[in-house]
Amino acid sequence: MMRLYMTQLGSPYRSYNDYLKEKFGEKVYKVSLDAGFDCPNRDGTLAVGGCTYCDEGSRAPGIKPELSIREQLLDGMERMRKRYGAQKFIAYFQAFTNTYDRVDTLRKRYFEALDHPDIVGLSVSTRPDTLSQGALDLLDEIGQKYLTWLEIGLQTIHDKTNEKLNRWHTYKQFEQALFKAKKKIHLNICVHLILGLPGESLEQMHQTIDTVVRLPIDGLKLHMLHVIKNTKRYEECLKGDVPIFEEDKYVQLICDILEKIPSRVIIHRLTGDAAPDKLIAPRWALEKGRVLHKIKQELLRRRTVQGTKAT
Ligand code: SF4
Repeated sequence: MMRLYMTQLGSPYRSYNDYLKEKFGEKVYKVSLDAGFDCPNRDGTLAVGGCTYCDEGSRAPGIKPELSIREQLLDGMERMRKRYGAQKFIAYFQAFTNTYDRVDTLRKRYFEALDHPDIVGLSVSTRPDTLSQGALDLLDEIGQKYLTWLEIGLQTIHDKTNEKLNRWHTYKQFEQALFKAKKKIHLNICVHLILGLPGESLEQMHQTIDTVVRLPIDGLKLHMLHVIKNTKRYEECLKGDVPIFEEDKYVQLICDILEKIPSRVIIHRLTGDAAPDKLIAPRWALEKGRVLHKIKQELLRRRTVQGTKAT
């Protein structure tokens, strides 16, 4: 029997935006930050050069890393105030690996961002192999006062793919980190996955989803692999390794995936953000509104919603 789920705002999946609106009574905006952390995949601890698709720590467009955390925050808040009339914000430690430092340094940087009356939450993006007990204790402490999300980048359960990506953590390490983080009751956990990684079949992508949805996660962030100028992935594509998702196939896959995700899981993202002047492919990813519209229309056509086929 088809299980129906709709948010109060009428979406066929439980979007992060709707979740924040329900929680705070208004739209809440994330301000992406580059807090000056490094990454073990870049500094030689595990590898140099970073993941093959990563350009400057996968920094979101618009971040100004030359500014202090405080200045970046005020700059981002001001832009969103002017553009959307935004009033509440989440400080999003987005670029590079945001738990990869001493705990006293993490504390200083997180609190520099939290020290503003319009900040209602913290979001921290990191790798599964850089989550110390001290970092988790600190995030749990912050979670007692602010909405706190920890975003763990897994990308795929297939270790061989992650090796090819020069990523150098395993699925086992991810699982251990997740269960350690889940002991913290004030922390929400989001898992980041990439679809269309080089050499992965649709079956492998579904294996990743089927595995991850059985785990105790609170949120999922999905997007297609971007080919960004001046990355190793770009060089591979120039040499002819260019399987890139077509838009309609991506829409179908996302709908198949959404049907399997339990309705309690919050969907942080279904497409990616990339700077238009750096994105080589797929260019259709720049039309985010159109892609999301197509996903909703396809679910409507199928008469299904998030979780319809969840087990
Ligand atoms: S782990 Fe993240 S920041 Fe580090 S190289 Fe990979 S994508 Fe870039």
